[in-house]
Amino acid sequence: MAVRWELLRRDPASAARLGRLHTPHGVIETPVFMPVGTQATVKTLNPEEVWDLGARIILSNTYHLYLRPGHDLVQEAGGLHRFMNWKGAVLTDSGGFQVFSLADLRKITEEGVQFRSHIDGSTHFLSPEKAIAVENALGADIIMAFDECTPWPCDYDYAKRSIERTARWAARCKAAHARPDEQALFGIVQGSTFADLRRQSAEEIVALDFPGYGIGGLSVGEPKELMHEMLEVQVPLLPDDRPRYLMGVGSPEDLVEGVWRGVDMFDCVLPTRIARHGTVFVPDGKMTVRNAEFARDFLPIQEGCDCYACRNFSRAYIRHLLKADEMLGLRLCSIHNLRFLVRLMEEIRAALAAGTFAEYRKAFLERWHAGEAERRERARAAGGAGHAPGPAEPLLPENR
Ligand SMILES: [Zn+2]
Repeated sequence: MAVRWELLRRDPASAARLGRLHTPHGVIETPVFMPVGTQATVKTLNPEEVWDLGARIILSNTYHLYLRPGHDLVQEAGGLHRFMNWKGAVLTDSGGFQVFSLADLRKITEEGVQFRSHIDGSTHFLSPEKAIAVENALGADIIMAFDECTPWPCDYDYAKRSIERTARWAARCKAAHARPDEQALFGIVQGSTFADLRRQSAEEIVALDFPGYGIGGLSVGEPKELMHEMLEVQVPLLPDDRPRYLMGVGSPEDLVEGVWRGVDMFDCVLPTRIARHGTVFVPDGKMTVRNAEFARDFLPIQEGCDCYACRNFSRAYIRHLLKADEMLGLRLCSIHNLRFLVRLMEEIRAALAAGTFAEYRKAFLERWHAGEAERRERARAAGGAGHAPGPAEPLLPENR
């Protein structure tokens, strides 16, 4: 088997688990956050930097690599690991999320999805079989089934038809998978924000017996309470001895809340995307280091942080770099944000090992939410401008 997940310890107070994911490219401690390397690169960082901040598995996007440079070329280069010179593990999504996000550019049938490239407008067709063939060629350790990710809000009848199609597609993905000994194919459960559909989807996908499960269609605009509720409905229906991966979710508080509800794996572009707007994570919430108040602030982004940026540079210097549009500013903010999330998961794992995760969660969330509330208050007082995270960058299809 390409990938095996080992349960080390259960949290007595919650659904959280401490575990270990064995892959052809190393052992990964879980719960884990996976940095996103959309175009076979974690934006602005080289692979050594990603490794040095503690990441051992990254995600790459099938949709983007299929369109450019093409999966055949990546295969010819010896697969994704060799092509990008990454010695850790890789997970590829199936492209479904991006393709379904191209609302005006795609047409869905039972056979698959016809879509137009966001790069040059050329027409392509992705089916479960084609998506798996592309993922087989890219060669990641973990590959994801081709599913339909419904937007939010979504009407009930559409969501129901969609999960049923996703289940039929999951069976086709499994049948098409040509490298099961080298790559683990994870199924994806959906169901929008309807509890009965979340249950039905879990039952149908679990019946196909995958070595791991992605939870899709959450954090797509719904209130956080609804996301938590859906996790509480769906996670207990997933097999206890397989890893669970909450797709596209990666804000610090979501990681803590997801682990609490039994999730083992996460990915998100958030840390690198907000870094490009000069926004960084600190234990008291997000901080926009680009703001004028940091012009003469010679402290590091986060005192005590062990990342390269905080060990070597001040807020004032990083702000200067951002204002001057210097690449190093983006790199330093990205390094800090990724290290913040990787370290958060290290701390969560240590708390799980010590049996103190409930206390850790409470302390982390109290401080985080208090800081975020204060930040919103100050932004309001400043007329809404001061602490805004910068212009909204479209999340799709480039930036998931
Ligand atoms: Zn730092």
